[in-house]
Parts: sequence; C-alpha cells; structure tokens
Amino acid sequence: MCGIVGYTGREEAVPVLLQGLYKLEYRGYDSAGVAVVQSGGLKVVKTKGRIKNLDEKIQQEGGMESVCGIGHTRWATHGAPSDVNAHPHISRNGRIALVHNGIIENYLELREMLTQEGFEMQSQTDTETVAHLFERNFKGDMMQALTATVKDVRGSYALGIVSADEPGVLYCTKRDNPLIIGVGEGENMIASDIPAIIQKTKRYIVLNDDEIARVTPESVELYNALGQKIAPEIQTVNWDISSAEKGGYEHFMIKEIMEQPKAVRDTVSPRLENDLPRLEDSSLTESLFQNLRAIHIVACGSALHAGLVGREVIERFARVPVFASVASEFRYRNPVIGEGDLCIVISQSGETADTLAAMREAKNRGARTIAIVNVVSSSAAREADSVLYTWAGPEIAVATTKAYSAQLAALYLIAVKAGLARGTLAEKEAREYCRQVNQLPELIQQALRARPQIQYLASLYSNRQSVFFIGRGVDYAAAQEASLKLKEISYIHSEAYAAGELKHGTISLIEDGALVVALATDPALYEKTLSNIKSVKARGASVILVTERQMEADPEICDFVVQVPACDPALSASLSIVPMQLFSYYMGVYRGCDIDKPRNLAKSVTVE
Ligand code: GLU
Repeated sequence: MCGIVGYTGREEAVPVLLQGLYKLEYRGYDSAGVAVVQSGGLKVVKTKGRIKNLDEKIQQEGGMESVCGIGHTRWATHGAPSDVNAHPHISRNGRIALVHNGIIENYLELREMLTQEGFEMQSQTDTETVAHLFERNFKGDMMQALTATVKDVRGSYALGIVSADEPGVLYCTKRDNPLIIGVGEGENMIASDIPAIIQKTKRYIVLNDDEIARVTPESVELYNALGQKIAPEIQTVNWDISSAEKGGYEHFMIKEIMEQPKAVRDTVSPRLENDLPRLEDSSLTESLFQNLRAIHIVACGSALHAGLVGREVIERFARVPVFASVASEFRYRNPVIGEGDLCIVISQSGETADTLAAMREAKNRGARTIAIVNVVSSSAAREADSVLYTWAGPEIAVATTKAYSAQLAALYLIAVKAGLARGTLAEKEAREYCRQVNQLPELIQQALRARPQIQYLASLYSNRQSVFFIGRGVDYAAAQEASLKLKEISYIHSEAYAAGELKHGTISLIEDGALVVALATDPALYEKTLSNIKSVKARGASVILVTERQMEADPEICDFVVQVPACDPALSASLSIVPMQLFSYYMGVYRGCDIDKPRNLAKSVTVE
C-alpha cells in the first residue's frame, strides 16, 4: 500500500514527483503530499484526495521550487484520510520531512514517550512518531540518526527522508515493504515501484531489508544494517514505458483483460519443450515433487482463487493432498507443515505482507517454498527457495486480471511437472495437456469475443443489488474469483457458492429478481449443476449460464448463455473467467464506478 517517490537532480523536482505519484496511485489514493528543500527550509504541500487534488493545491499555493524532494500517495492505516494525516510528516524543528509505507506497530508506546518529552503530535498517524523520533535521535549525522531510529521502531516500513540541512540528498531504508533506487545520469530517484522511475531511467537498485541508502544526484551510497558500505547491484527494467500506459483503452482494467493472451503466452511458451514443462531455470526440479507429504498453497484474494484452481489440478495430476489457505489465517493457526511439505505462495507483487509472513512461517518449519510472482526481484522472489515468474508485464488496475490468468498458467505447468515427477501422470497425457496449455492464448482470444454480448448483459443487470455465482470443481474456484471481481469493481454484493451447497442455506436468498451466474464448463459435472440451476430458476432468479456447450437459452434453465471455447476441464477456469472479468468491468462502468482505483482498495497490500 502507499506509494513513495523521491527525486534529486538538476530538474525541478515537483513535476517529476507528481508524475511518479500518478504512476503509483494504484498503490493508494486517499491523500497525497510532497516536501521539497526550498530557500534553506522545507516546503510541504499535502491534501486529502487524489494526486490531481495535490497538483491543484500546489498550483494554488504558488508552486514549489527545488531540485530535491519526496512525495507520497497514501492508503490510510492509522488515522482517517485527511490533510493533516497525509504524508510527508515533519519533525518538531521543521528540518526533517519523511514519507512512510507500512505500519509502525509500537507507535503508541513511541507516541507516549515522545509526548512526555514535549513532542506534540499533529496527526493521528503512526508515521509521525518516526519523524519526531528521528529528531530525538539526531546528533548531527543523518545516517547515525536513521540507524538509531529504525532500531527503535517495530513493524514494517519503507521510509524516504529529506533534510533542510542537506539539500540535494535523499535518505531511505526499508523493512518488509518495497523500495527501489532509480539510477540516472546526474539525477537519481527513490520509489516504491518501477513505473515511478521509468520516466527518468530504466536502471534501478532493489533495496534489501535494513539497508540504508544516501542518494545524491551523482551518487548512491548503500550501507547494510551494520553500517558497512556495500556495492549496489544495478538491474535494468526489461519492459517498455508503453506497457504501463493505457494505450488507447479507456481503463487499465480493460486493457489488461485484453492483454491476457499475451500474458499467458509469455508465461507458458518459454517453459514448454517438446510439449513438456521445463522449469529447471526456476529451480523447480523433479526431486522437489518426489516424496512429498503435502502441498500447501498460500495466498490472498485473487491469488488465493488461482490457488484453489491449482489445488484441483495438482491433486488430479500429482495425487498428493493439496491445501489452499488464506495467508493471514495460515500463519496464526499453528499450521501442520514441515519437512517433506511444499509451500507454494502466489502474489502478483511479491510484496503481499500476509503472504510473505506465511511463507516465512512455512520456511521456518522446514517446508520447501516456491513463489509464483509477477514482479522481478520482489521480496517473495528473493526469499523463496524457487521462483516461477508470471510474465504478465506491469499490472496497473487495482483489480487483477492478467496476473491472475498468468498465475493459473504457472500452476498448470507445476501440476504437470509434479505429476510427471511422481509418476502419477503418463507422459502421453502430460503432452496432450501441455499442448492445450500452449493453445490457451488462442482460446482466451476467442473467449474475449464475448465482449459485446457481456456489455449488453451488464447493461441489463447493472442495477441488481445482489449476484450469486455458482459452480462445481474448477468452476466453483472460478466462481469465487468472478464474485470477488464483481465486488471489487462494481460494489455489488455477491456470493460464490459451490452449486451443490446452495440448497444447504443460501437458497433462502433466491427470490424474484435475484441474478445467478452459473459456471458449468465441466461435462462430467454439467448434469449436477443443471439441477442446481433449475432450482434457482424455479424460485424466480434470472440466470446467466457460462458453458462450453453450444446451446440456446431455455426458459426452464437460463435467460442467457455465454459460450466459452471447449477445453480440458482442468484448464477451463482460464476461459470461463474471461467473460466474468468483462462482466465486472462493464457492470462497474454502467454504475459509474472508479474502475482502476476502486474505493478502499490498493494493489500491493504491504500491510497485515
Ligand atoms: N501507516 C501509515 C499511515 O497510515 C502509512 C500507510 C501507507 O502505507 O500508506 O499513514
């Protein structure tokens, strides 16, 4: 959550900071601010609302002039979104400005201590305590003060700091939250994510936990937790700025939905050789899957829904028990996991705090870990024993689409690899399945052709109060993702139910006007799901049936049929989800929702 950006160089800092913040707005967008070193002091402008409100406020206040500054777009955890709670926060003497991403867990203790010592809090945030603590620890040397300050705080943070007494210098450090340093020519930046620096440079350094950097226009000095100077490792962004632009689409979400064939192709095709998965580059060797007791898939939100599909497919091919768990629950339930178990974590950003914590828990208990992530060099990628990247490219819309599809594709490859390694899947069957995985991009392209029909359905149903998604097996897993997408984007209440479970309670909610979307793509389960569909139809529901069958709508069964291409049922979530993503998108559009930045959400959830 939250976006941090900092600039030091020869140009006016504020336009660079604002441009960076616009690119980071997907990370949080309830308030924003900037601080620059100007005329021997600090000038700070901050406001509730979006970056454009900040932009306007800066202009109203006569602009800012400086070649060095920091900026922040907030996703509030402590204290409501407001002008005063917006970052940057300033030390009591007004000499230090600081932006923060994360949560300071001992902030109440710190607040009490600082208040007793005469520091007056201006805001309700946890962050402000760090600004005052910094002043308290400052003995004339910024590095020393920052080292002392991070020793005093508990929790998670990425911090960007400027001092009125050191114009042109940025300081930063991090723990459990991402921070990178953009390395330019005569100018350098700090940021939470690559899109914020790419306007200036493609070269960047990933900061590791507890490292501290001192950044000037000409230099980046990096120190480890012991204060020893270390050599930075510079990486290069391998995608173009246009991938982070809307490219003629009205929203990032629809652009990213339409990009799914490419995302899946890029994830799958380099990893298939003679129609079999080759994952050795990701250090996923056969031995990893042999003699396994169990596989635990741990993730949050849509990534967990990808994991639910993964569970079905891995169990089918590899005949090993697979458990899929919510990351925030997993770590606190004293999980039965240890040596002989494999833990697969899934996270688009690779920075999801709950998922990282769960992965560490699994590792501490002796399990091997695999991370499926989209962001190169993210924390999960660095910490896991093996990493399988989804090559979905930058995903900007807060609600995931293409990264989810790429996660499914990665899980299919793992399932086949595990089945082959364990001798539970014949090579012939594996090849046939992989050929279909390889065809997925083309099939997803076909599924996207439902776009006009789905737009029409959304125009009919966008005023509904409540929507139920039902399915069995993989269709149930896809139904859960479909339901989450609808909630996220359109704010319509929705539920996903295993079709056979509906009659055990939830059917009481079905009445005239209820909308039920039934996913029934598995021929083996079709008849069973059909009975469930009939029972909601008989109670007055409108029904949209998503199926691979070629059939006309039948008033006894459904009002509309959305046909998706036929495929092996162990792949069908990749196709049935496509019209569902489009459905959420158009429902949101008809309801006038903020598609790419849904209320209260943020893309990279780096707080617990
Ligand atoms: N905990 C801080 C606050 O509420 C930072 C939140 C964030 O990461 O945006 O202000």
